[in-house]
Amino acid sequence: MKILVPVKRVVDYNVKVRVKPDQTGVDLANVKMSMNPFCEIAVEEAIRLKEKGVAEEIIVVSIGPAQAQETIRTALAMGADRGILIQTDDAVEPLAVAKLLKAVVDEESPEIVLLGKQAIDGDNNQTGQMLAALLDWPQGTFASEVEIADGKAKVTREIDGGLQTLSLTLPAVVTTDLRLNEPRYASLPNIMKAKRKPIDTKAPADYGVDTAPRLSVLKVTEPPKREAGIKVESVAELVDKLKNEAGVI
Ligand code: AMP
Repeated sequence: MKILVPVKRVVDYNVKVRVKPDQTGVDLANVKMSMNPFCEIAVEEAIRLKEKGVAEEIIVVSIGPAQAQETIRTALAMGADRGILIQTDDAVEPLAVAKLLKAVVDEESPEIVLLGKQAIDGDNNQTGQMLAALLDWPQGTFASEVEIADGKAKVTREIDGGLQTLSLTLPAVVTTDLRLNEPRYASLPNIMKAKRKPIDTKAPADYGVDTAPRLSVLKVTEPPKREAGIKVESVAELVDKLKNEAGVI
């Protein structure tokens, strides 16, 4: 069984993002970029399925600039087998990403596509769902547990106030939630080995997909600055301020 894992290169989750002065987006100059954390969880889950003997091959695919190759290398160093870089310097919206992934699925015929539930830059939470619709495959989103047996994927999903367990007939799309696993660090020997693993470089046009944007970002703004707090002398003063200044009680 082949597993396809789409991985996105995003601003590292530790970076405090700065909005560009003209409010057109986020400043990416000299900013540390990393693999989207939910994609890392997807790579880890695919590797665990391979270690259990469920999967034979893990293919990672990234759509992005030339530097997205580093993201693919990270996945290869963790344990994926080969990579596909669909190179573009344009911002690619979830529908176009899903169309490109569908084209890769048509070529590679994986049994499972394991994606992150969301990329932490755009916070779209759309690609997995759109891909499942384009492929007409069942989907298990926000997975906190995945078991594969007898041509089915048992996916436990984190939903409001509890868990839901689904049985999906393969092939299927699964998206990962935070508690699915803790991704491993790549060891130095594996980082060296990953340098020799193959990465195929393609362009969106090779798959006949038009990546022209359908949305335009009107503006991006910083969250409002938090005002400094104050210290009160007594409970009575606190209650008075909550009632008469904050108006919350
Ligand atoms: P989103 O729908 O943008 O929040 O992204 C959800 C998931 O789709 C990510 O965690 C990735 O697995 C996949 N994905 C989104 N954009 C890309 C991309 N440019 N390249 C590869 N995978 C992507």
